[in-house]
Amino acid sequence: MGASFNAISYQGTRDQVLKKWNSDVEDTQYECGHGGNYTGSISELGKGFNDTGKTFKSREEAEEYIEEHHQKWDGAMAVRYLKKGGLAKSSASKQARLQSSLDKAIGNKESLKRKVVSDLRNAKSKLIGCRNSGCQSKINRNFITVDGKCPLCHQSLLSPTAQNRLAVADNKVVKAQRDLRNYKPTESKSAKTTMWLIGGWCSE
Ligand SMILES: [Zn+2]
Repeated sequence: MGASFNAISYQGTRDQVLKKWNSDVEDTQYECGHGGNYTGSISELGKGFNDTGKTFKSREEAEEYIEEHHQKWDGAMAVRYLKKGGLAKSSASKQARLQSSLDKAIGNKESLKRKVVSDLRNAKSKLIGCRNSGCQSKINRNFITVDGKCPLCHQSLLSPTAQNRLAVADNKVVKAQRDLRNYKPTESKSAKTTMWLIGGWCSE
């Protein structure tokens, strides 16, 4: 029984990279079967990784380190390395700010939506009247959908005020998406981008 070396490089935050790695492992498991089958693929390494916290000057050095230190049967090993080129520093931080504004706007919208729907469901009176003139059903609040809609005619049961607040929150998401899409970051030859390299010896 031997082992073959596999390593994949990724760009992004630790959480983003972890998600991508786990989904690549899942794809391989789907194609080759689960770990322990001597497939020689990253499915042998499994989800998650051991982050060594080390950063190397090049991909070659990063790869050498994993080759030397990873033991067959261990989980995947993660190191970082610097790649030349990429976004200028100011552009990278501006882009990160725009991304985090978008994440925040999405989070606010989701939590507002959960709140207004839960208020609607938990109001004191057991029944609520549907405002749709063609429906006018009296609905047990337990049957209001997760979107706050009438289960019969699918029109929103939210008050106009709540609907307006949601629309405002939604506009903020749309605006943040547009800001991010329209931003043209500057590339810089002297910039260095931190990349992740994840892998190890996969038994076969
Ligand atoms: Zn209705």
